[in-house]
Amino acid sequence: MYLYNSATRKKEEFKPNSPDIVKMYTCGPTVYHFAHIGNLRTYIMEDVLEKALRYEGYNVKRVMNITDVGHLTSDADEGEDKMLKGAKREHKSVMEIAKYYTDAFFSDCEKLNIKTPDVVEPATNCIENYINIVSTLIDKGYGYIAGGNVYFDTSKLERYYVFNDFNEEDLAIGVRESVEEDTNKRNKNDFVLWFTKSKFEDQALKWDSPWGIGYPGWHIECSGISMKHLGEDLDIHCGGIDNAFPHHTNEIAQSESFLGHKWCNYWFHVLHLNTNDGKMSKSKGEFLTVSLLESKGYDPLAYRLFCLQSHYRRNLVFTYENLDNAAGVYQKLIAKIAALKPEAGEAVDEAALAAMKEKFTKALDNDLNTSLAITAIYDALKYQANAATKLAAIGDFDTVLGLDLLKKAETVRKANAAAASLEFTIDGEGDPAIDALVKQRFDAKKAKDWATADRIRDELKAQGIELTDLPNGAKWRKI
Ligand code: AMP
Ligand code: ZN
Repeated sequence: MYLYNSATRKKEEFKPNSPDIVKMYTCGPTVYHFAHIGNLRTYIMEDVLEKALRYEGYNVKRVMNITDVGHLTSDADEGEDKMLKGAKREHKSVMEIAKYYTDAFFSDCEKLNIKTPDVVEPATNCIENYINIVSTLIDKGYGYIAGGNVYFDTSKLERYYVFNDFNEEDLAIGVRESVEEDTNKRNKNDFVLWFTKSKFEDQALKWDSPWGIGYPGWHIECSGISMKHLGEDLDIHCGGIDNAFPHHTNEIAQSESFLGHKWCNYWFHVLHLNTNDGKMSKSKGEFLTVSLLESKGYDPLAYRLFCLQSHYRRNLVFTYENLDNAAGVYQKLIAKIAALKPEAGEAVDEAALAAMKEKFTKALDNDLNTSLAITAIYDALKYQANAATKLAAIGDFDTVLGLDLLKKAETVRKANAAAASLEFTIDGEGDPAIDALVKQRFDAKKAKDWATADRIRDELKAQGIELTDLPNGAKWRKI
C-alpha cells in the first residue's frame, strides 16, 4: 500500500516496523462539546485507513486518547482550558462534561460505522507517564522551568519544523492571533510540558508533580499515551491537518528527544471539511452535528459516503446540496444491490470475485483512493457474474467502506416483498369508473409504463381527483 507521508511529503510504500502488527495512533477528541461533522470526517477517513490495513492482511493495534485536560483555547498553550470553558458553559463539573461528550462522540462514531480503537485512553489516566517524560526531558537539557511552568526548548533541536510545508512566519501568526506572547518562553515556539501557573487560576483538575501542583500540556498527552500502549516505535500517526502544527510537531520534538531515536515513520493527515463561509465552527453559524443531520432526515451513512467520495488530502466543502447528492447516490446504490437476487444454492465464482477485488485493492493501495474504490462497486454490479458473486464482492468491499450496503439492501428487499404481497387496495369515494382508472394507473406503474401512469394521473386531475399513492394501492378524493 502506498500512502502519502506528511513528514517526507511523498507517497511511500507502507512498511510497518514489524510484519506482525501495525502500531497506529490517533489524536482523539477534546470532549468539551459535540464533535462537528468536520471532526468526524477525520475519524471516518482514519477508520477507512485502519480497515484498509486490516483488509490487506495486517494486524492493527490502534490507540486513541480522549483529551479531557490540557487543551487550551489556543493550540499554542494560551487561553483557557477548553474543558473548563465547557464545564462553565453548562454549569457542570469537568468530569461530568468529559463523560457526557465522550459518550456522545462514540454514539456519533457508531452511527457512522467508525470502529472504536483497540485502546481508548483518557488523558487524565496517564499523569505518571507524562511526569516521567517531562523529568527525563529536563535531565537531558530539553526542558526548562520558567515562571512556574515547564517548557520544551525548541532551540535545542536541529530540525523542529518537520511538516515544513508552510511558511514559518504565517504559522506563528496563525496560531497566535489575538493572544499575548508568553514571556516565560525562551523561543517563540517553545511549548508547555507541565503547567503550574497560567493566566487563569481556577483550573479544576490538578495533580502533584516534581514542579508543583499542576496539569499536563496538551501535546505531552499524545506522546505519553502512545508510548504507554505502543512502546517506543510507532508506525503511523493520524489526525486532522490542523494538528500538524503545532501539536504533531511538538509531539515529535518531545518524543524523539525523550527516546533518543526516531519515533513515528508515517504521518497521515486529513484535510478539512469547510463550509461555504470557511472554517467549520462549534460556536458560529449552524453547529453541524450528526444529530442535526439526522433531525433533517439524513442517514448518517449518507454523510460517510459523502466523505468517501472525495480524497482525504483535499479540502471538502459541505453544503446540503452536496449531501443531497450523496444521499441520492446512496439510495440508488442500495436499490441496485437490492435488485440482485441469487438463485437458491448459487455458488460464488471465486475467479470472478478475485478479478473484482483487484480494482478495489488497487484503489486503496494508491494513497487510499476511496472514490475510485466506490466505483469498484459499480463495476461489480456490471460484471459478467452471477448475483451471489456480485453480492460477495460488495460485502467484501464494505468491510472497508463501512456503508452497510448488504444490510440496507436486505431491508429494501424485504420492504419491496412486503409491498408486493399486499392486496391491492383503493381508498376512494365509491365511483367504479374512477376506481378502474386508479387500478389501471397502478398496473402501468408496476409495469414501469410511466407514460400511461402519468397520462391517467393527468386525466384524474382534470376531473378534480386528488390522488395519493399507498404502498399497495392509492387513495383518491374529489376536491
Ligand atoms: P478536536 O476535538 O478539536 O481535538 O479535534 C478532533 C479532530 O478533528 C482532530 O484530528 C482535528 O485535527 C480534526 N478537525 C478539526 N476541525 C476539522 C475540520 N473542519 N475538518 C476535518 N477535521 C477537523
Ligand atoms: Zn494528539
